[in-house]
Amino acid sequence: MVLQTDYDQYLARKTACLIRENFAQRGVTNLLVIKWGGKWKRTLGHIKPLNKDKEYGSLIEINKLLQDPDVPEFVLDYVLMHELTHYFQGFGSNHEKKGTHPHRGGLVDKELERLGWKEIMEKSDKWLKESWCKILVKNQLSPYRKRRKSRILKKMLKWFG
Ligand SMILES: [Zn+2]
Repeated sequence: MVLQTDYDQYLARKTACLIRENFAQRGVTNLLVIKWGGKWKRTLGHIKPLNKDKEYGSLIEINKLLQDPDVPEFVLDYVLMHELTHYFQGFGSNHEKKGTHPHRGGLVDKELERLGWKEIMEKSDKWLKESWCKILVKNQLSPYRKRRKSRILKKMLKWFG
């Protein structure tokens, strides 16, 4: 059995690796905290100032459902890279802001592409479209929105908060 502390350590180590391999020249300039969040249906991860003070720290939370063994590791990598890109682009952190809105003009995707993550990004998008609903069902979560049951979540995924 895998313990929660193992998952926590796994997430911390993986994040440290990703920072070293992709953002070594950037520098972590405040207290960066990464932890597992809730079992969210439509959000894979998010970043916000820690204790509402971005100079003090940043908090990245990752959807706990990504611990499910049926979720490929590259999807977790992708989600972490997405949030780390926000961090280094100054959203939810004290780095210089690279734009007015974190997703406008494909700001994150362009940076991920530049860093050589295009293939994993596409692979992850494909997997999420095809398989996310199955992960929800497996974890006793309805793949439908609360009100309009006819509309499956898949059609309006937002993924990142
Ligand atoms: Zn985002």
